[in-house]
Amino acid sequence: MTDSLLHQRFPEVASELPFLRLGDTPTPVRELPLGIRIPVWCKDESGYGSGGWGGNKIRKLEWLLPDAQRRGTKTIVTVGGTGTNWGLAAALYGRELGLDIALALVDQPVDDHVRAQLARLEASGATLHHTRSKFRTVLTAPWLMLRHSSGRKLPYYLPVGGSSPIGTLGYVEAALELAAQVRAGDLPEPAHIVTAVGSGGTAAGLALGLRLAGLRTRVLGVVVNDTLPLEAKHIVELAHRAEEVLRERGAQFEPVGLTPDDVTMLRDWLGPGYGHETLSAIAARDRANMVGLHLETVYTAKAFAAITDLSARGDLDGPTLFLNTYGPR
Ligand SMILES: *Cc1c(COP(=O)(O)O)cnc(C)c1O
Repeated sequence: MTDSLLHQRFPEVASELPFLRLGDTPTPVRELPLGIRIPVWCKDESGYGSGGWGGNKIRKLEWLLPDAQRRGTKTIVTVGGTGTNWGLAAALYGRELGLDIALALVDQPVDDHVRAQLARLEASGATLHHTRSKFRTVLTAPWLMLRHSSGRKLPYYLPVGGSSPIGTLGYVEAALELAAQVRAGDLPEPAHIVTAVGSGGTAAGLALGLRLAGLRTRVLGVVVNDTLPLEAKHIVELAHRAEEVLRERGAQFEPVGLTPDDVTMLRDWLGPGYGHETLSAIAARDRANMVGLHLETVYTAKAFAAITDLSARGDLDGPTLFLNTYGPR
C-alpha cells in the first residue's frame, strides 16, 4: 500500500516508480499576517523529513532513493556547493537505506551557515571531493564515476539539487497535496506560488503537478543561482521530461501541454550570485522572522523578498502562496 497521491492518480506506475515516504503529510499551510495589499499564505516544507535535514530536497529523495535501490546501485554520485542542503539530505537519508553518497563540492561564499553545513557533511559519512569549480567538476566527473563503481556497476549519477526528471516528481506529488488542501478549504486556490529556484526541480514539479491537479495557480520562480540555465524554457523542459518519465513507466494521460508562458522566472532578487547575501534578502529574513517564519538568505529570503516587493509595486495580485523550502535544524 502506497500513500503517494501520484500513485493513487496513476496506479499503473506504482511498481515501476517506487516511492518511499520520508515525512508527515500534508505539510502545514497558514496565512501570514504581513499586513500587505495581498493575502499571503505559506506552505511550510521546513519540518518535512524524519529527524534528518528537512526542506524541499526530502521530497525529491522520496522518489530518487527507491529508484536507486530499484537500479541495484550501491552508490550515488552527485554535486553541490560547500553548503549544499541537497548533498546533506542525500547523505543522511541515503545512509539509512545503506546507500553511499559521493559528493563533488563546488566553492560558494562561506559564512557561518556554510561552515556548519560543511561540518555536518563531514560527519554524514559521505565521501567528499572538493572539486572547487564547475569546470574542474566536469573534468573530474569520469574519474569520480569510475572511482565509485562497484565491479562493473557504475554509480547512480544525480544532477545538482536532485533535479533529475525523477527527482522532479517530488514536487508533482507536493502539488497534488496542495490541491487536496485547497479542495478541503484549508486555503484559497492561490493565484501564484512563489518559490526559490536553485536547480529548477521544485518549480518544474510544481508546474506539472498543478496542471495535473486542475489548479490554475501559476509558478513564480525567484532564481537564486546564476551558474545554471534557469529560464522558463528550461523549467518547462524539465517538467516535460518528468511527464515523459511518468508515461514511460506506464501512466496514461493527455499531454499536459506546458509552455514557457506557464511559468515566470524572475532574476531581480539574485544579487551578485548564488550564495551572496543581499540587503533585500536580509530585510526579508527579518520581516519573516516577525511572523514566525525562519528563513536563510541563500534561497528562501530572496524568494520572500520578491513577494513583498512585487506586491508593493502592484505587480502581484490574488492570494499568493510562499513555499518555504528551507529545512533548519
Ligand atoms: C535546493 C533549495 C531550493 C531550490 O530548489 P530547486 O529544486 O533546486 O530549484 C530552495 N530552497 C532551499 C532551502 C533549498 O535548499
